[in-house]
Amino acid sequence: MTKKLDVGILGATGMVGQEFVAALEDHPWFRVAWVAASERSAGKRYEDAAPWRLDRPMPQRTAEMVVQSCEAANSPTLVFSGLDSSVAGNVEADFATAGRTVVSNAKNYRMAEDVPLLIPEINPDHLGLLTQQSKTRNWSGKIVTNPNCSTIVMTLALAPLCQFGLEQVMVTTLQAVSGAGYPGVSSLDILGNILPHIPGEEPKMESETQKILGTFAAGNVQPHNVVVSAQTTRVPVVNGHTALISVKLTETPAQGEIVDAFRTYQGRPQEEQLPTAPLHPLVYLSSPDRPQPKYDVNREGGMSITVGRLRDCPVLDFKFIALGHNTVRGAAGAAILNAELMRKDGLL
Ligand code: NAP
Repeated sequence: MTKKLDVGILGATGMVGQEFVAALEDHPWFRVAWVAASERSAGKRYEDAAPWRLDRPMPQRTAEMVVQSCEAANSPTLVFSGLDSSVAGNVEADFATAGRTVVSNAKNYRMAEDVPLLIPEINPDHLGLLTQQSKTRNWSGKIVTNPNCSTIVMTLALAPLCQFGLEQVMVTTLQAVSGAGYPGVSSLDILGNILPHIPGEEPKMESETQKILGTFAAGNVQPHNVVVSAQTTRVPVVNGHTALISVKLTETPAQGEIVDAFRTYQGRPQEEQLPTAPLHPLVYLSSPDRPQPKYDVNREGGMSITVGRLRDCPVLDFKFIALGHNTVRGAAGAAILNAELMRKDGLL
């Protein structure tokens, strides 16, 4: 993999788009060659199109690019999408029709039966859905998605528990404001406050989890039969979604076995040493005051989920807390890891 592959970014000016720009700056396999956003930004230099909101400098090469409108004609064959979901459905389909590979963060195609909803540590075999996708869709390209940001944090923490028979999950989230995009929620609404409703978030956590943990066989994904009940809230934290999770298991492992399962959990990204893969997808901290967004959100470049406070649950069996970076592991980093796996598997 000596020559870098040119890539494009749809929605390059948004919260997730900026994470793509930053994360791809020194990527060993991919090189940002094209950025696109709405007609509000098209035609402007990238650095003038939208305020830069990351704590790392804007890459100079991208800063000088002219933002394009979201049309496939001159785009590279691989495009990452951080598009607003109000437009992602049509735009991503147009790009796939035009032969592009779209690796998307948007919700629009996540639950489509022929579209992989990928977390490479958990379900790399779900890329097999692309065979069905190429038969059923009028696309010469393809679409692969990553899950909702809270779903990724929770499901990575649940994956090691499947070996004990995962039956039921109760989860309450405390989600960062960066998860609402920019400008997102009003400061008057969120400062000193908790917002008890994030539209559409709870059903996503409940259904996406079943698909991600599902079994790929005979060309289809059979959803996992775990039942998830989610309550989601927005809190005045900048980055990092926290999930308070209780689980019911078929078996009765000791707490030490569960901690071992968290600490030793690995998958294809670690085996293949993919460039964006964290060494430890899950890190369990035994200190009772962790995880905290302030100290733990950037673990392993934001790609590692921090877990803590494992206890017995008097209602279900066990409870614990998981935290992950919503725009990195929950969005741009997740999509880049998906593309790395696809390249490794010869799908780009
Ligand atoms: P955002 O900050 O609001 O950015 C949205 C992007 O979409 C901007 O680049 C915007 O371009 C572009 N856009 C909006 N309307 C458009 C139109 N009519 N035509 C073309 N482009 C248009 O949102 P975000 O937080 O980055 O989220 C992006 C996507 O990722 C969403 O689908 C979101 O649900 C998903 N996601 C977000 C997170 C997170 O933590 N933030 C996590 C997982 C998934 P302009 O700047 O030109 O308006």
